[in-house]
Amino acid sequence: MQTELDWSAYDSYGAGDAYAQLPARGGGFGKAASVCIGNRQCQRDGNGVMCPSFRVTGDPAHSTFHRAQMLKAALNGELGASPFAGAELDAAMDLCVGCKGCKRECPNGTDMALLRTEARAQRWRAAGRVPLRARLFASLPRWLPAMRWLGGPRRLLAALPGMSSLLERVTGIAARRSLPAPPARAFLHESRAGVAGAEGLREVVLLVDTFSDRIDPAIAEAAVDVLVAAGCRVHLLRPPAGERALCCGRTWLSQGMVAEARREAVRMLDALSPFVERGLPVIGLEPSCLLMLRDEYHALGLGERLGPAAKAALLFEEFLARELDAGRLSLDLAMPAGSRAAIHGHCHQKAFGAMKAVRRVLARVHGLEAQFIESGCCGMAGSFGFEAEHYDISMRMAELALLPAVRALDEAAVVVANGASCRHQIRDGAQREGVHLAVLLRQALRPA
Ligand code: SF4
Ligand code: SF4
Repeated sequence: MQTELDWSAYDSYGAGDAYAQLPARGGGFGKAASVCIGNRQCQRDGNGVMCPSFRVTGDPAHSTFHRAQMLKAALNGELGASPFAGAELDAAMDLCVGCKGCKRECPNGTDMALLRTEARAQRWRAAGRVPLRARLFASLPRWLPAMRWLGGPRRLLAALPGMSSLLERVTGIAARRSLPAPPARAFLHESRAGVAGAEGLREVVLLVDTFSDRIDPAIAEAAVDVLVAAGCRVHLLRPPAGERALCCGRTWLSQGMVAEARREAVRMLDALSPFVERGLPVIGLEPSCLLMLRDEYHALGLGERLGPAAKAALLFEEFLARELDAGRLSLDLAMPAGSRAAIHGHCHQKAFGAMKAVRRVLARVHGLEAQFIESGCCGMAGSFGFEAEHYDISMRMAELALLPAVRALDEAAVVVANGASCRHQIRDGAQREGVHLAVLLRQALRPA
């Protein structure tokens, strides 16, 4: 079969016993599903985060193991002639939020988030079209500026009798879900200088993702201030003049639109290449965007230039922790004695072990007591929490640990959440505003 993603990494993932019940077709895709050897650790509810859909339903049919089994069945021809278009596989994948909990906690590293992307792409191919809602969510970075004008009319319409459920039926977007309200000006507006910090300082390039650019530009502002205060000269990554904003491709990939994700990834690499060739670190703020470079880009067939770019890609907290610990940068950080912060990690931060870096950076803030919330996926997971049929389960995932922990905090505590989805879920579910680590650190900057 022709796969949409490049699964060649699984050719050498393991030999012989590393795979269980290799399916008859699917090549590397089948091997990736066969990484699941069936010890069913994902069906044991313990302290781990894997797998939120199993943890809230308690139903083995919503576990990583079952999804892997269904994928193998599809590739073995056991689910009919058009398995990817069928209801059985769709039902198995329905509640997978792509959190990568399995990639991190499964003893064999089953990567169901990536397998789900391929399954979705195959589903659209079999159907001959991508549904409107998936296209809308995928193209969010292009129409996000219009959200500024959509929120008001949506609220007005929804206030009319019967309109709320009609709107939900027509759009497929949960009426109970708030919509993002982007401010008038994006961070990367036309008149902004492309570089901050004095010449001669340590040069870095900042990848300002769609969310930190358009929804919460205060995050990008804060990150620049902190990096400059630490001793960096910050280049802002921009598209060539006259072109649309850069995008990592995450929203497209999540919806199974692989070709479009690849197009965005190529534009991203084109823009990054001059900086990467000079050896500059690439710093990102939104975990799911920056970590695309180190993770899913390898499945997009982007060629040899991806290697150096992926190696250069670091989350804001990873860069700071590494450079501060090595003494190559310095930051003087303090908050009033007795200040408290509660930190919720984004699933992808956890999957890549980045929470250690958050801990190391926060330990440098004098006067701050940092408490890490023992939470799994927030349940929002990009578009999942917006989807009408998934709203309730999304909130149940959040109620497993995150929302009760946030509600238990006193008013003065700062909630730190680096993921845009996580902050949205916290706002909707606990009526608290989460902040990105960069925003907290800027508050803690002491004048040199
Ligand atoms: S997904 Fe991982 S934990 Fe679950 S059954 Fe397969 S190998 Fe075991
Ligand atoms: S990606 Fe998350 S929701 Fe999906 S199977 Fe893995 S742990 Fe479960």
